[in-house]
Amino acid sequence: MPGTGGSRQWAVGLREVSKTHGSGRGAVRALDDVTTQLRQGSFTAVMGPSGSGKSTFLHCASGLQRPDSGTVEIGGHDLSGMSETSLTELRREKLGFVFQGFNLLPALTTEQNITLPVHLAGRRLRLDKPWLERLLDYTGLADRRRHRPGEMSGGQQQRVAIARALIARPEVVFADEPTGALDTATGRAVLQLLRRLVDEVGQTVVMVTHDPVAASHADSVLLLVDGRIAEVLGASSAEAIAERMTRLEA
Ligand code: ADP
Ligand code: MG
Repeated sequence: MPGTGGSRQWAVGLREVSKTHGSGRGAVRALDDVTTQLRQGSFTAVMGPSGSGKSTFLHCASGLQRPDSGTVEIGGHDLSGMSETSLTELRREKLGFVFQGFNLLPALTTEQNITLPVHLAGRRLRLDKPWLERLLDYTGLADRRRHRPGEMSGGQQQRVAIARALIARPEVVFADEPTGALDTATGRAVLQLLRRLVDEVGQTVVMVTHDPVAASHADSVLLLVDGRIAEVLGASSAEAIAERMTRLEA
């Protein structure tokens, strides 16, 4: 169970991570010597202006991209030495992903979308049916289990995506602008759901956002500027986060 004792206190650790996109005159140093550790059972928001390296941070921290230098550890596993196959398995079995555009399969029902990662893993994962029921409850989707994405609102679809991200009881859930495609009220419900999963299930969540209101749901906020962590805030109001961002950008 994440967040309840054990010898590993950190779900994710980055040490001196740098990543450059492109080469020559077009090269952009998207991450520049980033070091941070994210506690198990914590909710971290990664904020920064457009182009500050938020997506690159998420991709490196979750093994989707390899840094040029530095090390990334997830749940005590150092990713640098891992093969592409092992990285793919780690992502599928130990990590959950939530995207701005939901990324659900339109032909599948809610229940089929949620359980897809377990089926894709074949014999390596077994479906935990009581956990599926609990997730359907948590996300308020119990009466939508036979619906397809096209028959549901954006907020409902994002809740399906969150349940899918959690079905394999991942070490960490990574969310990239999870409320970016939702209206304010629907977005708030999705953020409150993520918050409850942290508080009540001990889930570790890392969320990229440019929205101070979204970031105000987190336990800590990493402020990225030009690929570096310019500041780390504890739990803060949206106003305080917005004010810090404005100062750092100036
Ligand atoms: P953010 O998510 O904060 O907008 P990104 O991590 O996407 O920032 O990008 C950081 C910087 O790296 C930006 O200047 C962006 O243009 C550049 N960049 C990102 N991905 C690529 C890529 N595949 N090729 C070239 N440059 C890239
Ligand atoms: Mg981005």
